[in-house]
Amino acid sequence: MINKNIDLRSDTFTLPSQAMKEAMMNAKVGDDVWDEDPTVKELEAKAADLFGHEAALFCPSGTMTNQIALKILTQPQDDIICDIRSHIYQYEGGGIAYNSLCSVRLLQGEKGILTPEMIEEVILPNDIHFPRSRVVALENTVNKAGGSSYKMDEIKAISELCKKNDLKLHLDGARIFNALVYRNQSAKELGQYFDTISVCLSKGLGAPVGSVLLANKQLIHQAKRVRKVLGGGMRQSGFLAAAGIYALDNNIGKLKEDNQNAGKIADSLKQNKLVEEVIFEGTNIVLFRIESSYSSEKFKNELAKKGILVSNFGKEWLRIVTHLDISKEMIETVCNAILEIKVEGVSV
Ligand SMILES: *Cc1c(COP(=O)(O)O)cnc(C)c1O
Repeated sequence: MINKNIDLRSDTFTLPSQAMKEAMMNAKVGDDVWDEDPTVKELEAKAADLFGHEAALFCPSGTMTNQIALKILTQPQDDIICDIRSHIYQYEGGGIAYNSLCSVRLLQGEKGILTPEMIEEVILPNDIHFPRSRVVALENTVNKAGGSSYKMDEIKAISELCKKNDLKLHLDGARIFNALVYRNQSAKELGQYFDTISVCLSKGLGAPVGSVLLANKQLIHQAKRVRKVLGGGMRQSGFLAAAGIYALDNNIGKLKEDNQNAGKIADSLKQNKLVEEVIFEGTNIVLFRIESSYSSEKFKNELAKKGILVSNFGKEWLRIVTHLDISKEMIETVCNAILEIKVEGVSV
């Protein structure tokens, strides 16, 4: 069945293009658990090189790359410092406790963005009463804050603080390329500041499956062990890795347009008087809230009647995410539809 809806619920809904599928079908594969899949190796080398890291590990999901990273950077009784909105804390099924036996030190960054000062304040003294401060985990862009992103000097300052205090620095880069194109930053420059980076291939980049974990060779060796015990060792996964290679080679360029498209939607929302609040941080996410007398649920349903799907995002908030499969024409349709929704007899 052809889905005629304009699906803005998430950038995870991207479908592989014909060209991507051809790249997948033509992939040379082998048993990757035996280290014999050339296409997986090619993807891992390409992703590592992009961010200036030594090595990489292809995994089934971003949850797995995040959880493996935290596992290999910590020991039980360690403490992980992150923003309260972090995916690693909110949306990974309590994985930090389950997999790593660590505690979490939650900060309230402005729009989910942490500062060295905030982090420094919660670094614990070396005392047996306390867990050991071990890892700082950043998210870029911050999904739950509406796609906010870090400036390079903010990351550099956090990295320097971490080095000074013997803390490891992890990046959940599920949407890192949205941040890099928005801020015109280089992946290589960013890469040098982190010990581990998780990069998603199956959101805006359009691959059907997969994330890569980047780190040095020694950490990736440990990561492979953890991936195995989590059941994430895959066999002829080169078919999937080929989609990732295609995505890195061809789909980063579209992200700039995705970010701009989200901006157009945000502008239309601001013109509708039923919309009480709009959060747009320059990347591909828009969060918005409808006045209570009308309700977000009703607004969502009105859009759905017009074939436009958006998602609920916490109480009363709705989320729109633009992506590879959303064209300029679709954005025009969406913007017009947003302006058409009004209470009978009340002009927008
Ligand atoms: C989507 C996402 C992930 C990973 O999710 P998976 O569905 O496990 O691939 C991690 N962090 C953030 C911020 C995300 O948005």
